Amino acid sequence: MTLPDFHGQQPTGPQVDPEARPPASIFDKAARFFEPGGDWDKVHKADLYPFFRAIEVSEGTTATMNGQEVIMAGSNNYLGLTNDPRVKEAAKAAVDKYGTGCTGSRFLNGTLDLHLDLEERLATFLRKEACVLFSTGYMTNQGLIQAVAQRGDVIFSDKDNHACIIAGQQVSAAETVRYRHNDLDHLRTFLERISRERPEAGKIIATDGVFSMSGTLANVPGLVALADEFGAALFLDDAHSVGVIGDGGRGTASVFGLEAEVDLTSGTFSKSFSSLGGFAVGDQTVIEYVRHTASTHIFSASMPPSAVATVLACLDILEAEPERLDRLAEIADFMRDGFRSLGFDVWNSETPIIPVVVGEMYRAFAFWKDLLEAGVFTNAVIPPAVPPGQSLMRTSYMATHSDSELQRVLDAFEKVGLEHGIIAPGGVPGPAMQTNGTA
Ligand code: PMP
Repeated sequence: MTLPDFHGQQPTGPQVDPEARPPASIFDKAARFFEPGGDWDKVHKADLYPFFRAIEVSEGTTATMNGQEVIMAGSNNYLGLTNDPRVKEAAKAAVDKYGTGCTGSRFLNGTLDLHLDLEERLATFLRKEACVLFSTGYMTNQGLIQAVAQRGDVIFSDKDNHACIIAGQQVSAAETVRYRHNDLDHLRTFLERISRERPEAGKIIATDGVFSMSGTLANVPGLVALADEFGAALFLDDAHSVGVIGDGGRGTASVFGLEAEVDLTSGTFSKSFSSLGGFAVGDQTVIEYVRHTASTHIFSASMPPSAVATVLACLDILEAEPERLDRLAEIADFMRDGFRSLGFDVWNSETPIIPVVVGEMYRAFAFWKDLLEAGVFTNAVIPPAVPPGQSLMRTSYMATHSDSELQRVLDAFEKVGLEHGIIAPGGVPGPAMQTNGTA
């Protein structure tokens, strides 16, 4: 290689071989993500991209998107309280009293009397000794697992658990074993093996209480029995359960009358509680330990005052108006029956989350767009969130949906379902669902 002429001087910067290929950029993957001819490029070109769509007006059960009013059948606003005047007033009053943000972590300058009130209220509501707040549900689960499960411990995790439990596993120094979804025999084989090979290991079973895509419940009685037998702790992520199901909205364990048997329960404020934030409840010592050792709690700013006041107002309403939960359950039954009698596959949903299976990914995007044009907003869910060929419209309902809104959702699904061959007249699966049960 001949060096370029530097007029008699040696170059001072790095010497670059002009024949060498330019070094790969760490950003190449970003360029490839939307590369011409790739999946996302095709979806964009067909104008089928369903994500990050802006909502211009949100009124709870309805929303305006691109100037069109649609029925919102794809939010987690289960109690329908995001636009309740009492809740909005509480949020505004908190801004007036405390300002807009805490500008610091709970550990330091970010603890308001409001945070302490909410922790006490939730611990009492969920019949546990103590509660700790986090700034999101995601941070709750990640921080909780990182804090509780340490080197030498083992986390037994359901394969369908939410991404934030997986994030907790990744930052924890503990070993993780993942058992097949809701398969307690599979879980037992792991518990037996670890107990035999590493009898000194601390064990925690971690599972979603309600699974967010299927709307099904964890087998809490079976999990409690296994946890007892093997001396493992049991942790439920009740993001889609507290304020949704169970005695007075107390979540999955209370559906089975097993609240006392579950060691740790977490939840979110981004769903029934119309806000943003998360919490965990359990025994005093464990919760105090988490408060002092969970990185996502210590090193991140606390929930802003308006968010905390929103949750307190929602909790008041939940306790004063339990009929909201009855209405929600009634709506979920009505919609499940409605979809099934049209010939749709809704898996074995047991909650206000009702998946409607439509098949492969492009079909899901096209179905989603046609539904939107028919005036209904849902969420298109594709692999890896669901198995290949099982893409679905994730629908979810609010206690405030009216009967006529629900009927409009079913009518839109019927129209689009027939057009796509997902259902056929007479309430049976359509031609597009005949191959292996998937489109
Ligand atoms: N757990 C589950 C099961 C969830 O579905 C979600 C949110 N979709 C979370 C935790 C995280 O909650 P947040 O939105 O408060 O971060």
